[in-house]
Amino acid sequence: MRAPSALWTRLAPDPLAPDGLGGMPGRTVAVDWEVAEDERFDRVAARGTVDAVPEAAHSVHVEVAALAPGREYFYRFRAAGALSPVGRTRTAPEPGSLGALTTCVASCANYPVGWFTAYRRLAEDEPELVLHLGDYLYEYSTPAGSVRAVVGPETTELAGYRQRHAQYRTDPDLQAAHAVAPWLVVWDDHEVDNNWAGETAEDGSRLLARRAAAFQAYYEHMPLRRSSVPRGIDMQLYRRVPWGALATFHMMDTRQYRSDQACGDRMRVDCGERFDPARSLPGAAQEAWLLDGLRTSRARWDVLGQQVFFAERRGRDGAYAMDAWDGYAPSRDRVTRGWVEAGVRNAVVLTGDVHTHWANELPLDDTVVGTELVAGSVTSEGDGDGATDHPDLHVNPHLRFRSNRRGYVRVRYSADRVTADFRVLDAVTRPGEPVRTAASFVIPDREPGLNPA
Ligand code: FE
Ligand code: CA
Repeated sequence: MRAPSALWTRLAPDPLAPDGLGGMPGRTVAVDWEVAEDERFDRVAARGTVDAVPEAAHSVHVEVAALAPGREYFYRFRAAGALSPVGRTRTAPEPGSLGALTTCVASCANYPVGWFTAYRRLAEDEPELVLHLGDYLYEYSTPAGSVRAVVGPETTELAGYRQRHAQYRTDPDLQAAHAVAPWLVVWDDHEVDNNWAGETAEDGSRLLARRAAAFQAYYEHMPLRRSSVPRGIDMQLYRRVPWGALATFHMMDTRQYRSDQACGDRMRVDCGERFDPARSLPGAAQEAWLLDGLRTSRARWDVLGQQVFFAERRGRDGAYAMDAWDGYAPSRDRVTRGWVEAGVRNAVVLTGDVHTHWANELPLDDTVVGTELVAGSVTSEGDGDGATDHPDLHVNPHLRFRSNRRGYVRVRYSADRVTADFRVLDAVTRPGEPVRTAASFVIPDREPGLNPA
């Protein structure tokens, strides 16, 4: 049995070095790793040595086989006389297990905008698994009037992406969140370039070299398995992670293979292109992979971990967002119809990107067939006004809740229900804010939709 993600570290005595190499010499360094059943490493379960190579900016990914299922482990690294802090990970349970699982879901951490207190509070909630749904970092330089600064200009090349990732990893709140549990990560746009789509940049130019550089740095800094090692402009990020019989996480990549946004990627009232069935958000191969996985799933909960707003969301003025699933309506219909026709027992869509919390019911032909939980941002868009109302709630009755505060969603899966707690902070422009639950919902087994907790 393996942990759901790799164990990760990077050697970088000077993390902000402008060349992105972290102050390391251009040679291979041996790194010892250790996995133990206890935090004091009295009962070591596995150990080994791995090479940290300059070609990977001395990042290290370790996949430990032959661990016991369904339990926590602690790990640490040692290199060149330095000992790392201790991290905690966890293995998935036995294939038949329906034991409960507590997760936290986060998205959109813009460093200059504020403090990563949400990550600290997330760690204090002690989830067994963390899902990060993209915009782990932002490519921009520091805007005027920021709470704190990122070094360097907008990231466009490998050195800059590496330096940006390394600076994020110096944040103690983010470190605490990584150390508490294994993470399942998928990217959105800002790990590369705002609103990129396939091989097309935001400004319509070809993205290839920049995309390859961003993918390389992303792989180096995320706890991804070797199956995600980038090859040029390609990187296999979508994958399935079973959690006993309780849940299957279908982690999706909704950027790399998508058709370019319809109608110039603007909010549009009339856009025929968004109904073109030849267009796809996951791309044809990933869409087929997802539908196949849903057809063969026996999980109590099938969870789609992905980036962009899934539910239909008509603006008050009748306009739709072309970067979200609304811009790919037939693709969304194929996915939704796919899980219904597959007889999936419970479908839950997890979403990031929009910086505000939302809880949505997902109708198909006027019947609710799934539920969407949208995790607001760690910092993006700042403190927020605390409003829970929004005009879109009134023209989209299946959109049931929204909060304009920063935070994360705590999602607990059990055999008979999912419970979602929308965790919020009143401010991110000052450090150390407490967290509270703005709203909680229950999704009962075989009853898609939202109920007050
Ligand atoms: Fe974002
Ligand atoms: Ca985004």
